[in-house]
Amino acid sequence: MPALSDVIRALDALWPPERAEQWDAVGTVCGDPDADVTTVLFAVDPVRQIADEAVALGAQLLVTHHPLYLRGTTTVAAGTFKGRVVHTLIKNDVALHVAHTNADRADPGVSDALAGALGLRVVGPLVPDPDDPAGRRGLGRICELDRPVRLEEFARSAAAALPATAQGVRTAGDPARTVRTVAVCGGSGDSLFAEVRAAGVDAYVTADLRHHPASEAREQSPLALVDAAHFATEWPWCEQAAAQLDAISDRNGWGLRTHVSRTVTDPWTAHAAPSATATPNTTGAPN
Ligand SMILES: [Zn+2]
Repeated sequence: MPALSDVIRALDALWPPERAEQWDAVGTVCGDPDADVTTVLFAVDPVRQIADEAVALGAQLLVTHHPLYLRGTTTVAAGTFKGRVVHTLIKNDVALHVAHTNADRADPGVSDALAGALGLRVVGPLVPDPDDPAGRRGLGRICELDRPVRLEEFARSAAAALPATAQGVRTAGDPARTVRTVAVCGGSGDSLFAEVRAAGVDAYVTADLRHHPASEAREQSPLALVDAAHFATEWPWCEQAAAQLDAISDRNGWGLRTHVSRTVTDPWTAHAAPSATATPNTTGAPN
């Protein structure tokens, strides 16, 4: 049975913390390096529901993609919701480890998992890491489809392939547009529009697209936009990460049990569909 320090060393080899962005806060948030680990839970968000799930599962390690604390804090008092998470975890001997932007740019990384969930073939990174001679690490991925499909069909299959969220999948562009090549970026991807345009792909799958960057991207090129819930674009990484740790456990004879949380922690919980009679006319055609 491995100690927490053994498991963390293996996770750090998958997602080296030094490859995280400068502003990021990755690594072990709480946990005793000498504690035994038998069960590991993977999830996107270190929220209370997930901490409770780790306890109910009897896990000794919770691995999340999003940091609990991104900036400094002066308190972990249980009166704050983050402090409550820390208390729940420590009282129940559950460690918390975060792999965020270091997992984004890894090989395989968050966007590889997203591409895999969407059934896309990865050609290479959208923004390659200059220090990767193999040219496989970096932000986002450029992908190809096995057969070209219409944008509306692509969006429907994306909605079916990703975890169900209130938002579903939004698209911008001609529904009949042919999609052969796609850029994907798990999480908030509206900072990569220049690279996506330079890649010359037909569509861009990401999350959290805001009005102005999306509007300007639509004006500048016929690029179709496919916007899913942030949670939904990153959840596939949990399955990929659990499978990676399973393989390491098998190689080392650790006998770890890994679980992927099915709890949807997307903060949006409902979506009111637009009414056909609502104004202004949503097609843009004159009334
Ligand atoms: Zn994220």
